[in-house]
Amino acid sequence: MSKLEDIVSLCKRRGFIFPGSDVYGGMAGTWDFGPLGVSLKRKIMDAWWHFWVDQRDDMYGVDAAILMNPKTWVASGHVATFADPLVECKECHGRFRADKLVNGATESISTEEFLAAKVKCPTCKKENWSEIKKFNMMFQTHVGPVEDDSAIAYLRPETAQGIFTNYRNVVDTIYPGLPFGLAQQGKAFRNEISPRDFILRDRECSQMEIEYFVRPEDWETEFEKMRQLQHQFLEDVMGLPAEKIHDLEVPPEDRAHYSKRTIDMMFDYPNGEEELMGLVYRADFDLMNVQRESGKSMEYRDKNTGESFVPHVIEPSIGVERLFLAVLSSAYAEEEGRIVLKLPENLAPYNYCVSPLLKNKPELVKKAREVYELLKQKYTFVTWDDSGNIGKRYKKQDEIGTPKCVVIDFETLEDGSVTVRDRDTTEQVRLKIEAL
Ligand SMILES: [Zn+2]
Repeated sequence: MSKLEDIVSLCKRRGFIFPGSDVYGGMAGTWDFGPLGVSLKRKIMDAWWHFWVDQRDDMYGVDAAILMNPKTWVASGHVATFADPLVECKECHGRFRADKLVNGATESISTEEFLAAKVKCPTCKKENWSEIKKFNMMFQTHVGPVEDDSAIAYLRPETAQGIFTNYRNVVDTIYPGLPFGLAQQGKAFRNEISPRDFILRDRECSQMEIEYFVRPEDWETEFEKMRQLQHQFLEDVMGLPAEKIHDLEVPPEDRAHYSKRTIDMMFDYPNGEEELMGLVYRADFDLMNVQRESGKSMEYRDKNTGESFVPHVIEPSIGVERLFLAVLSSAYAEEEGRIVLKLPENLAPYNYCVSPLLKNKPELVKKAREVYELLKQKYTFVTWDDSGNIGKRYKKQDEIGTPKCVVIDFETLEDGSVTVRDRDTTEQVRLKIEAL
């Protein structure tokens, strides 16, 4: 089992992920994707879009603005309830999430319960606490030059509301039949009190969400279909091992009041089991909120029967960074003295690495360049490496997960064959250039 520190270290060493604003000493809860990380992240997001939108007839994309009318967050309940229990140490003024200091506590922990647990301040080790306050996790800002209450806006804490607010527009412009889904990818922001666990709990993340609108009577069948498809996506497209994914049926007392069914898909991360994605039956909660707050009808009119009703919704929601870390930690292996990222071929930043055996032999370099251009035309994701010796190149390509390394040597000049080394087995075979 890989350790989180090993993955963090690999990410920095090979240019996948750097601490945010690293050059200025960092900024808590932010991370920057480097060249390799951008490539992997984009492939993950593109594969999701391809699977859920491009390949289906009942899914459509939207890309809403991050800044939304503040009524959005009143309607959704975020202004009132999107809060964490905050407690302050009166000695050192450190602020913490109360529920994270007490074993087994939930977000609804009361001051009495917290004080009864007799925890000491993690910083100064004293026990002198304030009352628990509700800390709203939305980032607040002001739109325009005037800083009064009428100008308040929030960085969106989820992408989902950008879908609900566009439901009416989509229904009135493209007339989709039911069931249909709206998908969105984009940034969301949460002012976490204590960001931690690398990219698992950061203050800025990318989400991929679908709101799937169904007839109220169909929700159970559609929910089950969606659950199975999520597994298909995670296992077949993302290459995650099925035995590391656990469907956690959330019991009624822990579910949101409007939800009759919620499944948290948990994943065995290096630091233990954590939520990878959520699948929630939200009934008509969100559309009814929009209808109430906007005064506009959210009813869907069936073209054939003429009946009108507010559709119910099933929401699969996944964080890109959580999925990224699941993919990375599943692929990470240390074996026979080497570190190797066994990424699925569709996600690896590069499919091929091309190099001349010796970089001081112009005839080898020339031939290798030809092969590189050829493969680049054919596969796009091809990298060139003539640094160090061949052993060092293999080591680097193993660590960034390149499935095949192609080496051009003197034999190539004679018979047009090249050495192809396999990342996972390290086996080498001779192949004709045309066979690549
Ligand atoms: Zn303290």
